[in-house]
Amino acid sequence: MDLTFSDEEKMIIELAREFAEKELRPIAHEIDVEKRVPIEVLRKMQEVGLLGLMIPEEYDGAGVSTACYVQVIEELARVCAAVAIVLSVHNSVGAYPILRFGSDEQRKNYLPRLASDWIGAFCLSEAASGSDASALELRATKDGDSYVLNGAKLWVTNGSIANLYLVLAKTADIPDRPHRGISAFLVERDTPGITVGKLEDKMGLRASDTAEIHFQDCRVPASALVGEEGIGFKIAMQALDNGRIGVGSQAVGIAQGALEEAVAYAKERVAFGRPIADHQAIQFMIADMETEISAARSLVRRAAWRKDAGLSHGKEAAMAKLYASEMSHRVVHRALQVHGGAGYTKEYAIERYYRDQRVTEIYEGTSEMQRIVIGRAVLSE
Ligand SMILES: Cc1cc2nc3c(=O)[nH]c(=O)nc-3n(C[C@H](O)[C@H](O)[C@H](O)COP(=O)(O)OP(=O)(O)OC[C@H]3O[C@@H](n4cnc5c(N)ncnc54)[C@H](O)[C@@H]3O)c2cc1C
Repeated sequence: MDLTFSDEEKMIIELAREFAEKELRPIAHEIDVEKRVPIEVLRKMQEVGLLGLMIPEEYDGAGVSTACYVQVIEELARVCAAVAIVLSVHNSVGAYPILRFGSDEQRKNYLPRLASDWIGAFCLSEAASGSDASALELRATKDGDSYVLNGAKLWVTNGSIANLYLVLAKTADIPDRPHRGISAFLVERDTPGITVGKLEDKMGLRASDTAEIHFQDCRVPASALVGEEGIGFKIAMQALDNGRIGVGSQAVGIAQGALEEAVAYAKERVAFGRPIADHQAIQFMIADMETEISAARSLVRRAAWRKDAGLSHGKEAAMAKLYASEMSHRVVHRALQVHGGAGYTKEYAIERYYRDQRVTEIYEGTSEMQRIVIGRAVLSE
């Protein structure tokens, strides 16, 4: 596994670290409390080329490798996991499906915009279909040269700020194989018939919006279809393979940030006449955190490397996401424990890391779904 970065990629990773320290750290607490998406910071990220990271240079993006991309997500999540997920969704499940499955016209039309001033979102989940994604009900009905969309999507990250939605919709009823009746559409935000509904009041990632999106007689041209009818489920699953590598790196970043908070606190807090860092129980927790973070980081990098090398990476992405998210759960738990009572208050950032971490075990496929993907892959090898 060769993870050598080009000079440009090294600069981008360094830029992400500096950006996180300078632009995100000072506001991370405030935007969490205010439940505010920091649009001004996202604009700055767009200006310095951090948002359209995976979009190839021919479409005005930075065109970095997945290995570099996961480093950038980790750097951002280490300071502010909410902004990291905006970037992850925008690239992994927003732009990537267009690059991989879109027509030339769709690529030329949308990728440069997503590399400059547009934000992308991915609309798969609905009220009655989360893990069981093929049970979705939003319908796209062919009508002459257009499709008419009716239904509602739930849990859309970037939902209220996005300019472009990748929408998974039912175009045919195939009872035995419902996934074969699903198609993907690129729908612009200002298309008549779209309304942004309720914003979720979440436990964590409060500076990332999660919205309901309603489609009522929303007419899109036939050219909005991605690929052909019936391949939407495949598009969604491949996008999620990609997205899971991003969520894995987000989880590693959260864990790394939590460890750093714990180390700083352990050196400063005195108990029984010496810094608590001198107590072996605290050192052991720090040792376990460091070791597990390194293990998870290796899994994430391996999945990214396999994708860059053009190798199958579905199982590896699921393993990276599963292990990194559950690892980060253990790490934030220990890091909060190191803080004692102080960690249970909003005075210390660890309280935010603790809340932000939890969803990494849920979105882009729960841990149970990752185990199903991994188990099936192993049994069919
Ligand atoms: C903050 C946030 C952001 C999100 N962003 C997006 C987004 O941008 N786009 C999008 O489309 N979706 C998004 N989601 C939705 C997310 O992907 C789903 O919540 C997730 O896939 C789980 O679906 P569910 O909530 O319906 O849970 P359910 O599917 O109802 O699952 C409930 C429980 O049952 C378990 N379960 C279900 N089926 C099985 C089974 N066969 N075997 C074993 N256990 C099972 C699950 O693992 C889970 O523990 C987001 C969710 C959150 C919370």
